[in-house]
Amino acid sequence: NPLQGAQFVLAAHRIDQLPADEGAEVAFAGRSNAGKSSALNALTGHKGLARTSKTPGRTQQMVAFSLPSTVQGEMSQAMETRLIDLPGYGYAKVPESLREHWRQEIDNYLHQRRSLRGVVLIVDIRHPLKEFDRTMLEFCFGTLLPCHVLMTKADKLSRNQASQALATLRKQLDASTPVTAQVFSAAEGTGVEEARAKVMAFLKG
Ligand code: GDP
Repeated sequence: NPLQGAQFVLAAHRIDQLPADEGAEVAFAGRSNAGKSSALNALTGHKGLARTSKTPGRTQQMVAFSLPSTVQGEMSQAMETRLIDLPGYGYAKVPESLREHWRQEIDNYLHQRRSLRGVVLIVDIRHPLKEFDRTMLEFCFGTLLPCHVLMTKADKLSRNQASQALATLRKQLDASTPVTAQVFSAAEGTGVEEARAKVMAFLKG
């Protein structure tokens, strides 16, 4: 697993607190409770990396994780590589002012961050493309950033229902935009290899 060995670097409330804008990074976005922390843990093979939380509405931050030098060895030039966990603000109990703060901050981040190579959007396969998700996709289209959607919690559906949900999502996505999607389950490990390969492809540019 090339993402194994990811390590916490820092948590930031503003983009100017993030690590220097050098090297390459991939951002993870998702509504609160979509399963983003579990997905990050599964991808890095590190159960406690991103705190899986049952307390939505906790203080929200952007969290930076550095990837080990084995990943850097796979890059064409040696460079720092990171994963960035973006706050999910879809949860209704998050005050409107805080949601607006993060909407702005994420918009700025996606537009300004030069080291950002792609976005992984985590959606609950049973509730895809909520307002938060549409906003994220619009931001990506606006910046021409490639986006990969993980339809997680696939273990909650039958295989047939899961493939149907994927087909429906793909139909809804505008074919002219660089968005890909897959079925995923952190609980059962479904699609983990495919998602890792996508993250690596983003990092390699
Ligand atoms: P986050 O708020 O997006 O970081 O979501 P978490 O990763 O904390 O997960 C929210 C809830 O969904 C937790 O109760 C997890 O145990 C559950 N969950 C996350 N991923 C999966 C999955 O793949 N399958 C199932 N069945 N539950 C999941």
